[in-house]
Amino acid sequence: MSVSSMASVQRVGAKQIDVFSPFDGRLVGSVPCLDASAVPGLLERARIGVRESAAMPRHLRARILEEAARRVELESAAFAILIVAEAGKTLRQAEKEVKRCVNTLKLSAEEARRNAGEVIPFEAYEGSESRQGWFTREPLGLIVAITPYNDPLNLVAHKLGPAIAGGNAVILKPSELAPLSALKLVECLVDAGLPPSVVTTATGGVDLGKALVELREVRMVSFTGGFTTGESIARSAGLKKLAMDLGGNAPVLVLEDCDLEPTVASCVSGAFWAAGQNCIGTQRILVHCSIYEDFRERFVSQTRALVLGDPNQRATDVGPMITEQAARRTEQWVNEALAEGALLLCGHHRQAGSYSPTVLELVSHNSQIWQQEVFAPVVILESFDHLDDAVALANAAEYSLHAGLFTRDLSKALKLARQIEAGGVMINDSSDYRFDAMPFGGSKYGSLGREGVRFAYEDMTQPKVVCINEIRQA
Ligand code: NAD
Repeated sequence: MSVSSMASVQRVGAKQIDVFSPFDGRLVGSVPCLDASAVPGLLERARIGVRESAAMPRHLRARILEEAARRVELESAAFAILIVAEAGKTLRQAEKEVKRCVNTLKLSAEEARRNAGEVIPFEAYEGSESRQGWFTREPLGLIVAITPYNDPLNLVAHKLGPAIAGGNAVILKPSELAPLSALKLVECLVDAGLPPSVVTTATGGVDLGKALVELREVRMVSFTGGFTTGESIARSAGLKKLAMDLGGNAPVLVLEDCDLEPTVASCVSGAFWAAGQNCIGTQRILVHCSIYEDFRERFVSQTRALVLGDPNQRATDVGPMITEQAARRTEQWVNEALAEGALLLCGHHRQAGSYSPTVLELVSHNSQIWQQEVFAPVVILESFDHLDDAVALANAAEYSLHAGLFTRDLSKALKLARQIEAGGVMINDSSDYRFDAMPFGGSKYGSLGREGVRFAYEDMTQPKVVCINEIRQA
């Protein structure tokens, strides 16, 4: 599929980005490779978008988002095939992502309709009894949205949906590794009636991203991606709003009274969904010593049963990693951990960009693979004696998105939910649970803002107060 005719701004003679399948290396499509020199043209178009978007009444924004949701749903199969082709997710995982995208767009339509502002109780402040008023939620103006490769459709919808609901214009820079689903989503929005200038797609690499972030006219940069990129954006953005959805290193605590069978199944899924390339993927599983051996045996056996291979096949559980380079980096981190004393329980076979689901134990807490986000199909098991030690280990990471815990004891669960430092604590679920309407984001280092449609929408709008002073005759 060539997407060069899609709603992106192109330059005559511009270079192309070729998008290859992570599984078999075939060419999936190509998009223009814009660089910083394209930015003035992009900005000119986006300025029109700012005016057009703000002029759309809320009912129209909502109708367009609903109609786009309908079109994505109608084209579910094509979207899923495209996600598999460009990102290497398995067909089942891609289908789930498409469903979530439909929901994200519908939720955005609801925000456009309902979340317009509030009455301000001026009379609650002594001396203001003669005043009445309200605040409305106004657009910010121009938002730059930058997205990663791993959920190439729904993470884009999480930026475009709330931004459009709020009456903003967007310059969207999708991942250069997997930009095609994003462009197809923009096509659906335009076919649904969105004025094309409201979303300007800008396909390119790091230099383009940097130049967009630096633009003075941009009111907000909404970024999802890695820490290094987030730090670079924060350094160059200047005075504008930043939303940072960065990485994780998710712990899951397994207590002695858990229901072992569903716990193991949930942890295996949490660790290896999307080949572990998942910001809330389970990375460290801390298991009470009394059930550790039983848990380990079942966990390794279920991991070995996972089908690694062609993501187009419905039977496949784990597809390839995004690039061979990413798989090589994973292999290297595991080799380092093994050299530092870790024990390999299964996996650690690489073939080109495919890396088999890998389970480690006895991993040094100084290893990169313990301390940093692995973002790969690798998980660490560790046993604990005392719950307080497990909480300390869970909280030892510098940054955190989600955590999970398994127990039948509600009091323990609620206490742990308070103690664990994370943006979300999933009880009797692995860290890998997300519903698109809930507030979603990180805790500790690097976390700025929340996604989840209502929360992103509120971040992407600004309150404007109108206050009426009733002149009362003496
Ligand atoms: P990445 O940071 O390498 O790239 C993300 C995007 O940033 C790409 O579009 C890239 O071109 C752009 N970019 C790179 N350098 C830039 C710069 N200096 N200025 C502006 N833009 C720049 O991330 P990735 O490898 O595509 O994605 C994986 C990362 O994303 C992981 O760390 C993962 O945890 C994180 N992630 C977070 C969430 C979340 O919601 N918290 C969701 C998915 C992925």
